[in-house]
Parts: sequence; C-alpha cells; structure tokens
Amino acid sequence: MDRIVTASAARGTVSLVAGITTHLVRDARERHDLAPTASAAVGRLLTAAALLGTSLKGRERLTLQIAGDGPLGKVTADAWSTGTHAVGARAYARNPSADVPLNGRGKFDVARVVGGGSLQVTKNYEVGHPYNGIVPLVSGEIGDDVAAYLANSEQIPSIVAVGVLADPRGIRAAGGVIAQVMPGADESTIATLERASQAMAPVTTQIVDGADPAALIDAVAGSLEVKLFDTYDVRFDCRCTREKVEIVLLGLGKDELAKLASEQPETEATCDFCGERYVLSADDVRALSARA
Ligand SMILES: [Zn+2]
Repeated sequence: MDRIVTASAARGTVSLVAGITTHLVRDARERHDLAPTASAAVGRLLTAAALLGTSLKGRERLTLQIAGDGPLGKVTADAWSTGTHAVGARAYARNPSADVPLNGRGKFDVARVVGGGSLQVTKNYEVGHPYNGIVPLVSGEIGDDVAAYLANSEQIPSIVAVGVLADPRGIRAAGGVIAQVMPGADESTIATLERASQAMAPVTTQIVDGADPAALIDAVAGSLEVKLFDTYDVRFDCRCTREKVEIVLLGLGKDELAKLASEQPETEATCDFCGERYVLSADDVRALSARA
C-alpha cells in the first residue's frame, strides 16, 4: 500500500506533503500498457494529483490535465477523498504507447513526449461552481509545471518534485514531495527551503535508498523544524460503473443502438481512465435502444 504524509514547518508557514506512489504508478502502467516514457509522464502527473488530493474533503475532486503537442497527447489525472485519510487517484494518456529516447542526462525525456502546451487544473467542490486555473507549460517535465500553476494561479510559491524510476521490467519506484510557502513565511525560511531542495537527491533515488514519506519531507525542509500531521492511504481507483457506460451509449440514440444490436453479438466499451472493459450483449444493447 502506498502512503502519503502531510506536515508543516516553520511554525505553519510551510505546508508539506510527500508520498511514495510506486504501486499507484505501477497499477496505471499495467492498466494502460504505458510505454516507458509515457509511464514516467503519467506517473508524475498522477503522483502530483494524489499529493494535492490529500487536501480534498467530502465529494471534492481535483483534476490535472496537460494538453501538450508532443506524441503523448492529452494526459489527465484525477484525485479525490475515498474516506478518512484515504485518497483515490486515476490517470490516463491519449497515446499510451508514446515513447522517445532517453535525454542527454540519461533520464526519461518527459518534456519531449509531452511537448509544449498548457496545464489546466480543475477543482470540483461539493457545492457551487468548479474552480479552473490554466497555465502554459514551463518545461513539460510536469513537476515544474505544477509548481508554476501553484505559484501563478493560486499565488502559493511552491517546490514540486515528482519522479518515476522504471526499467524494462516495469516501475521500480515513484513518489514526490510538495512544499508550499504560505503567507507570513520569512525570508530565511524561504532561503532554507530553496537550499535544501536544490541539494536534495531526486525523489526516486531517495526512495530506492529506503526513504519513507517523512524522510522525503525532512530532505526538502532542510534545517526547518517539521511537524508531521496525517498519513493517507493512496490507491488507483475509478468511478466508472456499468450504469455510467450505459448512459454514454444511450447518447448514440435509438437507431444507432438498434443497428449495433443487429450487427454484432457483443458491444464493448472501455473506460478511458482505468481500462475496465464492459461487454454488452446484443439483447442488452436492444434494451438500451428501447430506453433511448
Ligand atoms: Zn474506469
């Protein structure tokens, strides 16, 4: 089970969240058969969504969507609360097989597979209108892009480090840490955070070396005094149901559904988000046609 830990530092003027998301990203990779570079990009966005998802309550939902012009196409990650101290998250990419060679530093070239474009963040609240923020991608490396969104759209200067380590057998480690500078933080606190984050080893290196979420928080906080809050369970989850699939199919209309039922013994629909396959018999589709 993956875990995320929340914390604060410098008398509450820095808000921290860190997590290990290896199983979450592995699950996404297997469900969508993601190519290595695609798994790094999707895994980073999914990790960022899960970390930020710890602040959600009730039926609130957070969606991060990257629309880039690279081979990966649009990438979407969702997170929501699944109960007390539990977060569900899901993600998919338009082109899961998108892959490019490693970059000059021997790392996944996430920037190239994503391309140029924008990051849109949507927060759906229990009541009222959703909040929407959109920023241009600064690098396409995803961590920088989420940090730019937090700084520019939410006015919260932030450090965002998310990483995925994979080899030909699959995902070896994934995780991330986010530090947010709240109003009232003094200059020395900000300087300490900047120094510590620049000196910090990549999160996946820390995880492979045995770091837990609290250790990731300590690494980014440097000499600041940290106060740990809550531990959250995080897992890949989806909200699709057979009924929701039927509602989508109803949109095809009476005639189209009748045609489907007469032409093929089974109609298959796959959930974009989780890869779940729903199979409807010709009789099921005929019944839908009658309802349409
Ligand atoms: Zn689904």
